Amino acid sequence: MDTLAPQVIRPPAVILQPTTLCNLDCTYCYLPFRKLKNTMSTEVLDAVASGLAGWNEHGPTEIVWHGGEPMLVGAAGLDAMMARFDGLDVRHSIQTNGVLVDDAWCELFTRRSVHVGVSVDGPEEFNRYRLNLAGRPSWAQTMRGIAKLRERDVPFSAIAVVSHPFPALAQEFYDFFAQLGCTSVGVNIEEQEGVNTRHTGRSTVRMADFWAALTTAWRANPVIGVREIGYVLDHLARDRAPGGRGIWVDPLPTVGWDGSVTLLSPEMAGFDSPEYGDFACGNVLETPLPALVDAGLRERWPTEFLAGVARCREICTFFDFCGGGHPGNKYFEHGRFDVTETDYCRNSKIALLQGVRATL
Ligand code: SF4
Repeated sequence: MDTLAPQVIRPPAVILQPTTLCNLDCTYCYLPFRKLKNTMSTEVLDAVASGLAGWNEHGPTEIVWHGGEPMLVGAAGLDAMMARFDGLDVRHSIQTNGVLVDDAWCELFTRRSVHVGVSVDGPEEFNRYRLNLAGRPSWAQTMRGIAKLRERDVPFSAIAVVSHPFPALAQEFYDFFAQLGCTSVGVNIEEQEGVNTRHTGRSTVRMADFWAALTTAWRANPVIGVREIGYVLDHLARDRAPGGRGIWVDPLPTVGWDGSVTLLSPEMAGFDSPEYGDFACGNVLETPLPALVDAGLRERWPTEFLAGVARCREICTFFDFCGGGHPGNKYFEHGRFDVTETDYCRNSKIALLQGVRATL
């Protein structure tokens, strides 16, 4: 096998956007249409389901309900949407701000074994960018939803955006999640992408110190998983020969409310650019999903992105850990895809590996 040629895997997950609307207005959000109420139709859902049927021969597919805020379609509404996939080998997960969680939602999550991911950035003062539509803090509403999940014994994970990754705050940040009741936390350092154009460049040394401090806090009380630390520990346990990682491509289709499909990066969905057009590779109402994936990966911007990943593999000593970065970061930071380093990879790949390693 040519280890330099990209190897495309069967998509383990498909992201579906049941609605574009969101009930919050986080200042770092990348979604362009979060104030518009567009809802996915049964025709789109059925087209996706028929596309998944072929992939299912090779194992389950995770359906990730992501928005907007997916809970805005209502528990009965999302139940009916999920029902379009009954009979297929799928697992449902939802990424939510947690504000609307109530008994009806908990019943749905339990009955359908939905994996629940809640977006919360840490203790109250860490959530200053998570505002409701009135411009007021949303933290208390999210914590009410989390309390309901705990009361009903619904397992959940957390995802946090960290806008100010100061090493001195890492312990307090970790302690919050360790007692929150979540199974794990994913730590996203704020990124410059989508409609969030805030500069996210940071000192790599300082970022490594943040990751090291977070790892130290986790090691002292490892009651939950920290996704990023897990990535590093898995990588180190693999003990791969330097340069041994090939280019593996997860197509990661995102199906928008209207059936449009964007590959590789949910952050590109819904965007237009003068050079590339709208980044979508087609619509499931016109072309089966597997055919869209095959053809879409050969279009201009994915081809350029894969050229950038190949360049990463040639020049970057962190490629074996990183794998070559994400299209959204490359495009929104550089205006093109065939590039290598980004603030994202310096903050969340290079500094991460350095920081966790420093604690070993
Ligand atoms: S760390 Fe950055 S430059 Fe290195 S492989 Fe990853 S994306 Fe490419």
